[in-house]
Amino acid sequence: MPEGDAVYRTAARLRGALDGRVLTRSDFRVPRHATADLRGRAVLTTVSRGKHLLTRVEGGLTVHTHLRMDGSWRVMPAGRRTAGGDQVRLILANEEWQAVGIKLGMVDLVTTADEPRLVGHLGPDLLGADWDPGEAVRRLRAAPDRTIGEALLDQRNLAGIGTIYRAETLFLRGIWPWRKVGEIEDLEGLVTLAHRLLEANKGHGGTVTTGDRRPANQTWVYGRAGRPCRRCGTRISRGEMGAQPQERLILWCGGCQPR
Ligand SMILES: [Zn+2]
Repeated sequence: MPEGDAVYRTAARLRGALDGRVLTRSDFRVPRHATADLRGRAVLTTVSRGKHLLTRVEGGLTVHTHLRMDGSWRVMPAGRRTAGGDQVRLILANEEWQAVGIKLGMVDLVTTADEPRLVGHLGPDLLGADWDPGEAVRRLRAAPDRTIGEALLDQRNLAGIGTIYRAETLFLRGIWPWRKVGEIEDLEGLVTLAHRLLEANKGHGGTVTTGDRRPANQTWVYGRAGRPCRRCGTRISRGEMGAQPQERLILWCGGCQPR
């Protein structure tokens, strides 16, 4: 599942292909907007807010997309045969480039003035210019009985963390994922570490939390269930957190992250 840093990179790719250029094709393959036509309008820019993408178009319109579990945007030269087949949900193209949205979890067309309705509920964006650790901590503290694992994934507290950064941040801070928010003293240190990890990875593909970019060495616990902890040798545990059907993967080390 794409996390905040991957969405951030996607926004940068879309800006490179679409910003300042007039759309020559807009193909919404979702029933709700099947007749929408943005041809002739210039794209102003694309911004990411947490895991949401907002592509602003001349005339006060915003194309809102979300990658959800396995969506992606591919950018390719305009003349090339479009990839993605029947998984394509949206194509935005100009004379030079085409941006092809594949398996997008959400495609919406709204007025730009309406953006707050879509993303106004989000907590501080870990990769936003307005990242505010104090506000993230304040929002987390508002529900002290929640498990920290669930609270970190709730984008209303802070926006951009998915299952990988959740697992890695909690490991690095030595926090058992089911610990209650109210029992954690240094929440500021926790969210600041998450911010540093996303910042360090936003410029390139891959999620590296160990500082070692070799494919087998990039993470401490994520993707390592049953393997020995890199610090203490305990086998890494794997489980699920959250109420059904929203439960999501969690990995942790019982040695480094005791109850
Ligand atoms: Zn360990």
